[in-house]
Amino acid sequence: MTAPADLAGRFRRLISATGPIGVAAYMGEANAHYYAARDPLGAAGDFVTAPEISQMFGELVGLWCADLWDRAGRPAAAWVELGPGRGTLTADALRAMRAAGLTPPVHFVEASPALRAEQARAVPAAAWHDDPASLPADVPLLVIANEFFDALPVRQLVRTESGWRERVVVPEGDRFACAAGTVPMDAAIGAAWAEEPAGTIAETRPAAQAVMADLAARIAAQGGAVLAIDYGYDTPRTGSTLQAVRGHRKVDPFEAPGTADLTALVDFSALRGAAGNSAVHAWGPVGQGRWLEALGLGQRAAALAAARPRRAADVAAARRRLADPAEMGELFRVLALTAPTWPAPAGFSAEAR
Ligand code: SAH
Repeated sequence: MTAPADLAGRFRRLISATGPIGVAAYMGEANAHYYAARDPLGAAGDFVTAPEISQMFGELVGLWCADLWDRAGRPAAAWVELGPGRGTLTADALRAMRAAGLTPPVHFVEASPALRAEQARAVPAAAWHDDPASLPADVPLLVIANEFFDALPVRQLVRTESGWRERVVVPEGDRFACAAGTVPMDAAIGAAWAEEPAGTIAETRPAAQAVMADLAARIAAQGGAVLAIDYGYDTPRTGSTLQAVRGHRKVDPFEAPGTADLTALVDFSALRGAAGNSAVHAWGPVGQGRWLEALGLGQRAAALAAARPRRAADVAAARRRLADPAEMGELFRVLALTAPTWPAPAGFSAEAR
């Protein structure tokens, strides 16, 4: 395990030996270091996610799966979570699914040794995978990804006076900075953005596209569903959305790599498009708030408040944080894929593809 100071040094040596590195390589390496050694979640960590705000989130995700599975004829199915953090979502979902008669084996796709240890405390019976390739191939999969795709590396391209170039990372004093690479990259940009003004940045996310295409092909063949929840946007747009968060504050993504959480907004049209070669149905994206309320967030909050009146204000606050359009309700989007032979999922309006 390389210490963060060594990671900056390693980037410097690599760049001086072989030339500038792409933004995706920088982000991927920095996050691998960041997650490998720590649990970044919670008030004492760097950021808070929906399952850590309230048990209601994981419970409703579990009930969404149980309902879909029930209407699909209750086949033997496996539960999969990508990047499960502390394992909280799965633990809450398992409890809700058990009440509905669904007790699937649990598979976690997780790169971080530190977080695998946390997840083992929450869900001792889980099986761990380095990537989706080793997931079961013979049963329907119920796949959940909450704030997973936003942590996967983005590649950036920048428009210069002489066309599109890779956006690369170079040392600048004791930090790093971005510059335009030398190789023409116009072929990597769609016609719609060919003539954007100099300085325009475009983001793509090859790793996320590959995971989504792989999972779509899996559920097309095996049955099941994929549920991706993340902060992002529905229609393609330009601009860098790369950000770094440490101790609940935004910091410079190009300073001290490996010591802050690097994320970028998820382009849901691209994620949905990545599934396009498979015969799956795609649903959404819709706002997280609308989706949770359609699944019964209000009723669940009322039941929890009635069971523990002294916690009623906390439950109401958690519901607002998860669903209010001014909080997570609109910025966080929900996209689902379902197998061609499976029914329509709850929480989305009728239109599918
Ligand atoms: N889903 C959790 C955690 C989100 S943080 C929650 O909502 O609380 C991102 C998670 O993805 C962490 O568990 C991190 O270790 C994992 N992760 C990031 N990049 C990964 C990669 N390339 N492969 C596997 N897991 C990854």
